[in-house]
Amino acid sequence: MLSEATFKGRLSRALGEMERLGLDCLLVFSRSNQLYLTGSGAGACTVVAKGGEVVQIAYLLEAERARLETRLGEVFVVSGYEVEGQEGVFVGELHEAVRRVVEGLVERGAKVGLEAAVPHATYSKLAEALKGYSLVSADVVSKLRRVKAPEEVELIEEAVRVAEEALRRGLELIEEGVRECEVAAEVEREMRRRGCGVAFETIVASGPRSALPHGYSSLRELERGDLVVLDLGARWRHYCSDITRTAVVGQPSREQRELLESVLEAQRSAIDAIEPGVKASEVDAVARRVLRRRGLARHFIHSLGHGVGLLVHEAPTLSPKSKDVLEPGMVFTVEPGVYIKGLGGVRIEDMVLATERGAKLLTALEPIP
Ligand code: ZN
Ligand code: ZN
Repeated sequence: MLSEATFKGRLSRALGEMERLGLDCLLVFSRSNQLYLTGSGAGACTVVAKGGEVVQIAYLLEAERARLETRLGEVFVVSGYEVEGQEGVFVGELHEAVRRVVEGLVERGAKVGLEAAVPHATYSKLAEALKGYSLVSADVVSKLRRVKAPEEVELIEEAVRVAEEALRRGLELIEEGVRECEVAAEVEREMRRRGCGVAFETIVASGPRSALPHGYSSLRELERGDLVVLDLGARWRHYCSDITRTAVVGQPSREQRELLESVLEAQRSAIDAIEPGVKASEVDAVARRVLRRRGLARHFIHSLGHGVGLLVHEAPTLSPKSKDVLEPGMVFTVEPGVYIKGLGGVRIEDMVLATERGAKLLTALEPIP
């Protein structure tokens, strides 16, 4: 469980960022940002005022969960209709509840920041409800989440450990005649019985299907000589992991071995290039250069990696067009892959923590099974 001091620290950093942007008030709609700020993902919107007040607006059905989970601020309950015997509930729509809360916290004319990820319909209603305030878009909480605190890294490490055990179990099952979905089911069972959720739907993609980077798990039976991509992640106390290994059913051919070794070389070269102040796009370029030398660059059709935390895909992004610069405390994947139509695909994905001295590998599992 994260400490009280963690949440106080997050709030004070958010307030600092709000001050820098000249915001009197901030509206946070994204679940993961609300979770980060308050410890509860039950709210529909969390309002932060420059004085340090935090109000989580929750629908009636989520109100009790919000009260139980929240580590910071108070809960304001909203319902679209009156429920007999329920007191202290604001009856109205969400944007009306937001206006009521904002009015109680800041003066008219105040500058109200709105974090991204709001559907257009919600935005229109909000803009109407908050007439008289100056509504601006603002990126506050997402920015804070890019660098992880040691406590967060510990939770991520636990999610990695469980995912590795599940992956080991999945690799044990790989043999001729087993279905992709059976492997996926066993992998997910392994994570569940250790008290984790799944960070995303497990991918077991075999044979020609392994050439699909996001080729879910089908009824296909594994055949001798197949490449099998296993991509999975656990969620432990809200924090995610994300790992991929590529196995071969039976003995790998020379061509398959070369593909596996090329992808591994690309990955290890990229990991070696990680240090504070390096551009994420440069790390991506290192992996691409290795694959180009091997004549495989055109088969590497996605980004090299992504941040992992409360969400399985978050900042920073390691891609050719990324503007991110690596900092100590960032946690992200390094996952080069090559996908050859008809032949199959290979991906090796590990998670790393950027430190002052370069990348620390969070995964311990051997890269090629
Ligand atoms: Zn993955
Ligand atoms: Zn990934």
